[in-house]
Order: sequence, then structure tokens, then C-alpha cells
Amino acid sequence: MADSPRMRQHLASQPGRARRAAVWLGALAAGALAAGPPPHADEPIVVTSCPGQERIAVTFRLDCSHVRDPAARARCKPFIENQACKVFPAYRRITGIDLEKACPEITYTLYDKDQWPHPPGGEGGQAGRCSAELLSQFSVLIDSSIGPYDVHELLHVYQSQIGSVPYTHILFGASQLEARREIGDHDGYEAGFARLKKEALDPNLEQEFARMAPERRCPMAEVNEEERLYISNPKVVYAFYRELEIGWQKDQAQREARFNRMFDKVSQGRAKKFLLDHGCAPW
Ligand SMILES: [Zn+2]
Repeated sequence: MADSPRMRQHLASQPGRARRAAVWLGALAAGALAAGPPPHADEPIVVTSCPGQERIAVTFRLDCSHVRDPAARARCKPFIENQACKVFPAYRRITGIDLEKACPEITYTLYDKDQWPHPPGGEGGQAGRCSAELLSQFSVLIDSSIGPYDVHELLHVYQSQIGSVPYTHILFGASQLEARREIGDHDGYEAGFARLKKEALDPNLEQEFARMAPERRCPMAEVNEEERLYISNPKVVYAFYRELEIGWQKDQAQREARFNRMFDKVSQGRAKKFLLDHGCAPW
């Protein structure tokens, strides 16, 4: 199924733009590729405790053996510690989901670009039921004030618990931003918030909806509604997950209706007009 320009833009927005910021680090790392085979004695890296917490609910495991540059490899441990001790608890607070019931262990596998086992041209990341694979340029080589981390693939793992979705990255804009805020990446949050605001309040929005295939309009309207609700009050993202009914529907219209009931409730009825005016059926 072909994506409309706006869908592609959204698909690319959070991970793509954040990931591009890491390219300069990747370029630095490229110079070290000739350094020869790395030692693998420290694989995998396992995290079972965090500062002030002797035993964490979910064990995090990292296979960094497909990352070769020593400078990048040195960031493997801080990466998986951030996932276990910062990003995981942040999404637990945001979603209210106790992931340990489904995933007592979560495994990350990181790859240099030439080691990536999937077709090129994708997002550079892939989540499984309790696992995630990521390119090194979108994980260990991401720079932030709190070190390298991933808020995208772990959200896919969390969202595997909420039921079927009308759109693969629904609630991602708001959730990823809130996770950045929760883990203390102030600059990442501010930059992401500015991007979200620009996208949500794009003056060309109506023309883009008009050009969009009719069946794509409602999911895109839901994404836009989510973004605008988040801009008006970041705390709504916690309510998104608590008000959403968990359900598994094959039918796209039923999936949309389930999310629309949630947006309607969270917005106290204010979302209804926009959603109905932009391709959503009454729910
Ligand atoms: Zn994704």
C-alpha cells in the first residue's frame, strides 16, 4: 500500500529526524572500521539492576557483537542501561502497562549498517514481541545529554499490549516526546516538541487531507488529533493509554472507532468534530 506524502512524512518524522542527528557520529565511527575484529568476550551485556533498585522487573539483554568500531562499542553498556533504567520505567509510567507479564526479558541486537540482516531502505529498526533490532547509527551513536537511548522500538514492544491499531505509529509522536521529557533529555524534548508543533499545525494540512486517499484520512486525523491534544496539555498522553479499550479487531473501521472513542473521552468531546470532518465514521 502506497503512503501519501504526509504519511511518509509522519513515518519519517520521529525516528528519521532524530536519527539523522546521529549521522555525524556515524561519520566519525566510519574511520575506525579498519581497526580489525573486535573482542566479543563481553557479549551479551545483561542488566538486572539499576541505581537504587537491586532487581528490576524486566531483564535487559544486549547483543552488540555486530557493532565493530571500539568507540561505538564503548557506548553499548550505557545504551542498554538507559533502556533498562530510564526508558523502560518512563514508558511504564506513561502507558501504565506492566510489561514483565508478557516480557520477563527484552533483548536488543544492534548492527552496523553493513551487518543489517533486513532489506535496506526501511526504518533502520525493527521490534519483535519482546525484542528490538536497531542500526548502530540510530542507537549507540545517538548523542544526548543522558547518553545513547531508544524511545521508538521499545514503544513498539509496549504497544504490542494495547491491541490492534489503526496506524502503525499511532500515539508515537506524543509518547516518544513524553518519554524524552521523562528521562531528562531536555534538548531532545524541546527540539522534538518544536517539530511536532510544526507538523500538527501545518497550514497546508487541509490540502494534504484533500489529496489523501479516503481510507488514509481517518488514521491521519487521529494522529493529528493526538498531536494537538498533546500540545495543549502533555499530560493527556497518560490518559490516552488509560482510556483506550484493549481490543483486537481485524476491521480497520472498528480499530479507528476504538481510538476515536478514546480521543473523544480524553478531549471531553472536543475531538469529535475534527475527526468526523476528516474521514472518520461516526463511532
Ligand atoms: Zn516504527
